[in-house]
Amino acid sequence: MRPFAFSRADSIESAVQHYQAEPHSTFVAGGTTLLDLAKLDVMRPSRVIDINDLPLKEVERLEDDRLRIGALVTNANLARHPDVKQDYPLLAQAIMAGASTQVRNMATTGGNIMQRTRCPYFRDVAAACNKRAPGSGCDAIDGINRMHAVLGGSESCVAVHPSDMCVALAAIGATLTLQGPDGEREIDFADFHYLPGTTPHREHALGEGELIVAVTLDPPLRPLGTAYTKLRDRASYEFALASAGAMLSLDDGMIGEARLALGGVATRPWRCHEAESLLVGRRADEAAFKEAADTALAEAKPLSHNAFKITLARQAIVRALRDARERHS
Ligand SMILES: Cc1cc2nc3c(=O)[nH]c(=O)nc-3n(C[C@H](O)[C@H](O)[C@H](O)COP(=O)(O)OP(=O)(O)OC[C@H]3O[C@@H](n4cnc5c(N)ncnc54)[C@H](O)[C@@H]3O)c2cc1C
Repeated sequence: MRPFAFSRADSIESAVQHYQAEPHSTFVAGGTTLLDLAKLDVMRPSRVIDINDLPLKEVERLEDDRLRIGALVTNANLARHPDVKQDYPLLAQAIMAGASTQVRNMATTGGNIMQRTRCPYFRDVAAACNKRAPGSGCDAIDGINRMHAVLGGSESCVAVHPSDMCVALAAIGATLTLQGPDGEREIDFADFHYLPGTTPHREHALGEGELIVAVTLDPPLRPLGTAYTKLRDRASYEFALASAGAMLSLDDGMIGEARLALGGVATRPWRCHEAESLLVGRRADEAAFKEAADTALAEAKPLSHNAFKITLARQAIVRALRDARERHS
């Protein structure tokens, strides 16, 4: 691990100022992504700015019924928050499907959104990776690509976005509040993560020195049934091969509103708008769920080792929709 300077920010403004003072600075929250990647020499910060003293640990119900989550709320605290369990169960389910108790106790909301891909070629500095070293190529495309993306990939990059929490955020709908050198701004969560295209090193809309300060969830759907189905190589402490987050609002067995998002199969958290439109107004039955799954995966493109992911994702969708229907209140 390379040496780096360290400072601790005592206000949001000072965090941004520290960052600007030195090129190649980075923030650290729980450290569960950053420290791993620094040890692997993938991230090489010259200064690490600890943001853990910032007042960003509250979950607050807003007057318009939305829920504002501070960027430093840990994944564990968020999943067990009463408002999340009551009104956004998909978020609690997705978080609890990820990592381990120890990691969830450290990992933060902002850090989870900013976590990097688990692509083994990205994490190996001896490999070619356009995301880590722009222009160097992509060893995954002709390599061992069993874990890689079937949706949203490009000729430059097929790395999967690994977050479970972000699948729930994509389905629920959310706004990020960012603070940077030019003040505060908001951005729709759906616009935050970029597709790789020809510039996979540009992963998100956060500017230099900008900090995520909060995530505000859209108002809850009521009545609601939700489910997060995660399929993976082992039952815990493992990233998804394919996951689906589903939300259904039903009236006498008919679908009034539907939300569907996928993880483990795409280069960013993947909302399935066309599949949702197909479901609305239909009876919540197996035929509708299978059609929705086919629609969601219609554009999927397998690589040499991961065609099975399309089948897995289809099953994850049908199972998540079925479980959401069964859990409807
Ligand atoms: C063994 C292991 C298993 C895991 N399994 C899963 C899993 O199954 N599912 C899953 O979804 N995740 C999993 N994770 C990933 C884990 O969820 C993330 O590492 C964690 O959410 C990152 O949060 P953090 O606070 O520790 O981020 P840090 O490591 O502190 O930071 C990560 C990045 O985010 C930036 N950052 C942090 N906070 C902010 C902010 N407020 N504003 C701007 N930038 C910020 C940092 O600069 C850094 O670049 C696993 C991790 C490990 C180590």
